[in-house]
Amino acid sequence: MSTNSLHLTNSISAKIQAIKQQLTPDVRLIAISKQVSVEKMREAYAAGIRDFGENRVQEALEKQEELQDLNDICWHFIGHLQSNKAKQAVKSMNWIHTVDNFKLLERLNKLAGELNKKPKICLQVKMLPDPNKYGWSAEELLAASPELELAENLDIQGLMTILPLGLSDSEIFDTFEETRKLKEKINQASNLQLQELSMGMSGDYLLAIKAGATMIRLGRTIFGDRQ
Ligand SMILES: *Cc1c(COP(=O)(O)O)cnc(C)c1O
Repeated sequence: MSTNSLHLTNSISAKIQAIKQQLTPDVRLIAISKQVSVEKMREAYAAGIRDFGENRVQEALEKQEELQDLNDICWHFIGHLQSNKAKQAVKSMNWIHTVDNFKLLERLNKLAGELNKKPKICLQVKMLPDPNKYGWSAEELLAASPELELAENLDIQGLMTILPLGLSDSEIFDTFEETRKLKEKINQASNLQLQELSMGMSGDYLLAIKAGATMIRLGRTIFGDRQ
């Protein structure tokens, strides 16, 4: 794939510049910094990144503390959110991409009310069966959508999906397209006005963009392989 050429340039800044050339301005690049040092995050920041994604609340809090001087970072939570971490997530995250069931949605809504916050969230949908992933099925989500709009303390912005491994490029593209169509169906079936599609990681982001992604979540392509 054409993304491979990006691995030849080694500075974080060069990688970010190369990725940006592939993006139109309406696609938000989120640097997934899980397991990445704050020094590397500072390099990404210096290269223009303002959106960082973390998959553990505790790790995110520690990094926020160390990066306090960079006060215009937008923090995205992209991991499975356990209910005992929900309060910290509402307090500290601008976005939560991984709202994957109704109970969690209700809990976040209640906490957001108590904390006087209105986090932006994405509903995580599992477009294909995958025992290793969390998320609503497309059918469940569509059926639940009129109830979701009752979560008045949450700013429900869009859908997030992660594809199972082992799909061909055409299967990947079709599945991302199905996600975009699901967003439209939900907007018709409810008063939700979903705008965002958080889809595309290092291995599949070009296909995700082609299918209409508005937020891509890139870790390895920016920071190199994780341990
Ligand atoms: C780790 C992770 C990413 C980034 O994956 P890369 O393959 O490193 O780009 C994106 N989204 C989620 C939900 C992740 O957990």
